[in-house]
This record gives sequence, structure tokens and C-alpha cells, in this order.
Amino acid sequence: MIESSRPRVAIVGSGIAGLSAALGLQDACDVIVFEKRSRVGGHILPVAVEDPRGASAAVDTGFVVFVPETYPRFVSLLDWLEVPHASAKTPFRITDDVRALSFPAAELLPLCGRAIPKACRRDLLRVYQALQRIRAEGLGWLDNVSVQAWAEAQGFQPESVELGVVPWVASFWGLRPQTVLSVSAPVALREIARNAGHGTMHRVVPDTQRYLDVLRQRVTAQVRHVEVESIALDAAPAVLTREGAERFDHVVVSTDAMDARRLLANVPGVSDGLAPIRYEDTVAVVHHDASLLPASKAKWCTFHHRRRRQGNATHAFTTWVFDLLHEWTDDPTRIDTPTLLTTGSPELLESGCIDSEQILEVFEHRHLVSTPQVVDTLPTLPGLCKGHPVTLAASYLGLGALHEDALIAGTTGADRVRAALNLPPMRWPF
Ligand SMILES: Cc1cc2nc3c(=O)[nH]c(=O)nc-3n(C[C@H](O)[C@H](O)[C@H](O)COP(=O)(O)OP(=O)(O)OC[C@H]3O[C@@H](n4cnc5c(N)ncnc54)[C@H](O)[C@@H]3O)c2cc1C
Repeated sequence: MIESSRPRVAIVGSGIAGLSAALGLQDACDVIVFEKRSRVGGHILPVAVEDPRGASAAVDTGFVVFVPETYPRFVSLLDWLEVPHASAKTPFRITDDVRALSFPAAELLPLCGRAIPKACRRDLLRVYQALQRIRAEGLGWLDNVSVQAWAEAQGFQPESVELGVVPWVASFWGLRPQTVLSVSAPVALREIARNAGHGTMHRVVPDTQRYLDVLRQRVTAQVRHVEVESIALDAAPAVLTREGAERFDHVVVSTDAMDARRLLANVPGVSDGLAPIRYEDTVAVVHHDASLLPASKAKWCTFHHRRRRQGNATHAFTTWVFDLLHEWTDDPTRIDTPTLLTTGSPELLESGCIDSEQILEVFEHRHLVSTPQVVDTLPTLPGLCKGHPVTLAASYLGLGALHEDALIAGTTGADRVRAALNLPPMRWPF
């Protein structure tokens, strides 16, 4: 142990995994959270805006929705924080300027049903049966194969995959259609089973800024806004930043797996063990004002979308706007119907008071691609650091890599560190 009578613990990353690990360690350790960005929260990404009356508000562009029934730990955290949540009746709003359409998400859902061709109904029934079986029996009966291999084995119509399976899966992770086909079928189906048909989606009220503010108040550990360049493991681990090297008794790595690989490049086995975990840049457009969209028009696609050719026209579909049929030209760089998909109140979006630079930050984020290989790797991950004073704690340790998984990774990570440092087990209030 170094100098202080309390163990010193460094946590790299201030997303929910890092912050919840801090909550589980700060009573017994001197904790420093290192965060490379100027703000805490990671994928909790509220963007501050002024509403039309000049009051402050936020648009959620990262983590925003959850299903209470399948996020028990997170709901318990919100209860402990005394942060309310409510049905996400209108968080997703899609505006089509050309047709002047504007629907809250709740009204869009029935449209999904209408877009399913008759020939595909048998296949969709199969999907629903698989979901029911997963809910009843878990995943044990499903082979860990890709979505494409699974759909082929089921004899699905290509359209069922294109119009049903792919948009559904893409909607959970903001992935490109071609990537969705490489995702592990058990993960994809589990996420659908976990999120669909389980009651309504909820969101934090009024926005995730409130959640983040209250969470931040509970974290008494010091947060340092500096990038960790690497972690050295000699006698005691050292965290290297531009400010120099600092020794700790234990280091918790709560970054995504790609950052963790870089940080732990010198630790035999750990970096290689993380290698199968890959990410894809988030595919998202969050505003209908062309001046707010990325410079490359090829990126003008909606968060949950795919494109389909029909005669001379190419149409865009999303889980939420299955049947809005935006008129896309053959040349994807000549899209003339920019689409808005974001989560603030309609007033905010219509008032044009959203700061483009901040909103576009969402493009800096990336989503885990849960291939069958990743699923095979999952059980080995916690053991990677065995024998080292380092603990991995981030969303990729969970099967779905969603907010509940990240929270569980953080709390489990803290439990592991306490055990490694011979500290009494944490009595979690949530
Ligand atoms: C656009 C988007 C939308 C999403 N929406 C939802 C949703 O609606 N519902 C849901 O359940 N899940 C959603 N997710 C999944 C989301 O990833 C998780 O909900 C969760 O927030 C991830 O938390 P985390 O703590 O594991 O990682 P992160 O939130 O990514 O935190 C990692 C932190 O580590 C920091 N960091 C990285 N490297 C270093 C370094 N070298 N030094 C210091 N700091 C470093 C990063 O800056 C970041 O702050 C979404 C993800 C994305 C990308």
C-alpha cells in the first residue's frame, strides 16, 4: 500500500460504468476518476440548449431510453437518486420537411406494421416465437451464429430480413445494415426480447442532464479531466498522463474496449484478449437543418434506418419511420429530404435553438458490434486481468452493452476491486 492508509484507486473513464465504480469504492478508498473529455458522463450525452422562452433545457443525444422491466438496476439507481422517469411518449420526433410530417414516436409504431409485406408474415411470426422462447427459456437453445446465418437457416424471405430483422437490430445499436448481419443472433434476439413487448420505453425526466447532475453530486471522488496515455504495471500500477506518472494500488478501466486495449497494450494477454471486440461509428443524423448535418451528404441517414430501392426511387426506412418513404434519389449524396431524429421537445427542435457543434458530438461515439466472436470472448474477459491490479469495468462486459450492462459492469467492477484490496463488501443502496 502507498503512503495513505486508504488504498488509492484510479478509475479511467467517467461514463456510468466509471461513476458507479466510484460510488462503490469512494467510502473505503481514495479514488481519482480520470476523464479525457471536458465533461463527465461518457455516453450520457445531454446537449444544453435554450428553449424558445430562454429557459435552459437539454436534448439527449446519447443514452436516452430504457425499458424499466429489463433495466432493474438502473431503475433502482434512479429511485436512489430521486430522479423521475416517465413513458417516452414523444422523445423521438421525426420531421419530414418536404411533406411537413411530424409524428411523435408513439404514433409511428403502428406504421411499422403496415410496411410488412404479406409474404413476410410467416417469418415475423417465427421471430416472435423465438422471442417468446427466449423470454421463457433464456438463450441456451440458440446457436451463437450471425444474424445472417440464423435468418438463412430459418429460410427467411430476403425481404423479412431487410424490412424486419435488420432495422430492428440496427435500432438498438445505430449500426449499418451490412454490420447488423454480422451481429450474433442470440444477442440481437435477446435485445429485441428485452426491449420489445415488455411495456413502454421510458426516459429520464426531464432529460439526462438531471440524471447526470444528481449522479455527479453523489460521486465525492475527485474527477480529473486529463487523458490517460497508458497504464504501466510494475510493482504497483502507474497511470501515465501528460502530467506524469502516478502510482495507485488498483486501476479500474471503464473505457470502451478499444481504448482499454491501447491503455493496456503492455500488459501481456489483456490487449490480445480484448482484440475481438470491435466498434462501429454511430450512424446518426440529429437535425433536419442542412447546415447542422455532416459535411459528407453520404452520412445523411437516420439513426435507425436502411435504404431500399423500389423502381427508380430509393426509400429510407427506420424502425420508427418504417413507412414514411422519404424520397431518396439514386445518388445517396443527393438526398433532398433531410430527416430529423432527436429527443428534445418538439418546441426545442422547431425553434432552431440547437447548437450544431454540440449536437454533432454524437458522431464521435461508437457502438459495439456484438459478433459471435465477441460473445465467445465475453466469459474470458473478467479473467484477463487475473494476477494484475487492474479491473475491467465497462459496458462491453455485458451481452447487450446497453446502459444497464454498463451500470452492472461498474458495480461488479467495484465489488471485485474491494475483494482484491481486502475491503468489506459494498452494501449497495441501489
Ligand atoms: C449514440 C448512442 C446512443 C445510445 N443510447 C442508448 C440508449 O438509449 N439506451 C441504452 O441503454 N444504451 C444506449 N447506448 C449505449 C451506451 O453506450 C451505454 O448506455 C453506456 O452509457 C456506456 O457507458 P460506459 O460507462 O460503459 O462507457 P462510456 O459512456 O463510453 O464512458 C467511457 C468514458 O471513458 C472516457 N475515456 C476513454 N478513454 C479515456 C482515456 N484514455 N483517459 C480518460 N478517459 C477516457 C471517455 O471519454 C468516456 O467518457 C447508446 C450509445 C450510443 C453511442
